[in-house]
Amino acid sequence: MQKLVIKNIGQILSGKREDPLIEADCLVSVDGNIEAWGNEKDLDCEGATSIVDAKGVTLSPGLIDSHVHPVVGDYTPRQQQLHWIDSTLHGGVTTMISAGEVHMPGRPKDIIGLKAMSIAAQRWYENFRPSGVKVHAGAPVIEHGMVEEDFAELAKAGVKYLGEVGLGTVKDGKTANQMVSWARKYGMQSTIHTGGPSIPGSGLIDADMVIETGTDVIGHINGGHSALPDDQIICLCETCKSAFEIVHNGNERAAVLTVNTARELGKLDQVILGTDGPAGSGVQPLGILRMIAMLSAFGNVPAAEAFCFGTGNTARQRALNVGLIEKGFSADFVLLDQAQHAPGSSMLHSVELGNLPGVGMTIIDGVVRTGRSRNTPPAQRIPEQVL
Ligand SMILES: [Zn+2]
Repeated sequence: MQKLVIKNIGQILSGKREDPLIEADCLVSVDGNIEAWGNEKDLDCEGATSIVDAKGVTLSPGLIDSHVHPVVGDYTPRQQQLHWIDSTLHGGVTTMISAGEVHMPGRPKDIIGLKAMSIAAQRWYENFRPSGVKVHAGAPVIEHGMVEEDFAELAKAGVKYLGEVGLGTVKDGKTANQMVSWARKYGMQSTIHTGGPSIPGSGLIDADMVIETGTDVIGHINGGHSALPDDQIICLCETCKSAFEIVHNGNERAAVLTVNTARELGKLDQVILGTDGPAGSGVQPLGILRMIAMLSAFGNVPAAEAFCFGTGNTARQRALNVGLIEKGFSADFVLLDQAQHAPGSSMLHSVELGNLPGVGMTIIDGVVRTGRSRNTPPAQRIPEQVL
């Protein structure tokens, strides 16, 4: 049995917008899953196989990046970069969801070829987790000619997500809706490229196409990078029940518009975050933290709630057993503190002023993966593994 006890926690972020802060100083996980949390004196801390002294910092569920474009292992051909996933773990991200392995050189676009690559990509990230990060990959981009049987076969083989609709040849709502419905019938989630073309070869997807297609996630509602006109973004927020995914690689003004519109409509639970990296703008190891700080500061969202955009909201929209402080959920955490010399009266207040927190430790499946981040500003206090 593996038992992790994290002591001297300052506060816990729950990942739940309805109740984002938990007053507790201790959390226990057993065999990689959350077991209990509360006051240390009330918890069964006997028999720990590892102990972390949190030194009074904040414990959050590990961050989730809802939109990445991995290809193979911890290498991206898009910017010829190694170890971008490890670098992102240093930004507090413990789970990533592929929106398509579209940067694979020579990516097959014939149907048997794209199915083969999706199944292979699902397998190679299941079999090899870079630095422990959970990468849900193997996300096929739909092409003309696919039939219901293709989706049944993909689902049976373990494929759980479609890549961004619109990055392939299917660029009309009617065909896309048919394929998304087939995917849904077999338990696969879907997302769509929203906005102007991202790079040469991709195209415009406007609000009408997004609504007609009816994906589970409105991928980069703030554009990737060119955003739709304001009235179309507002229309999507008003019309859709799907997730409003805001990405780092998009338009920041449109990101703030989305949050303000979602708030007015009482739909902030639908806001989730991604980076859309690797992309033309590179990789963004601190992208999710930067989105949390930016949306908290400019979107007037309390920091504890803004963290939910990158944790519990995504977990709920994506049906993952991470991102929330719940018994039985994965013991995936990031330990954060106010950055040295950052203004503000606390870690959360400094984030509300637009500053990044410092990452002091990451934990995945109850195992310490990294200590002080090499990428964030240095935290004031750094947790220590004492056993
Ligand atoms: Zn896109």
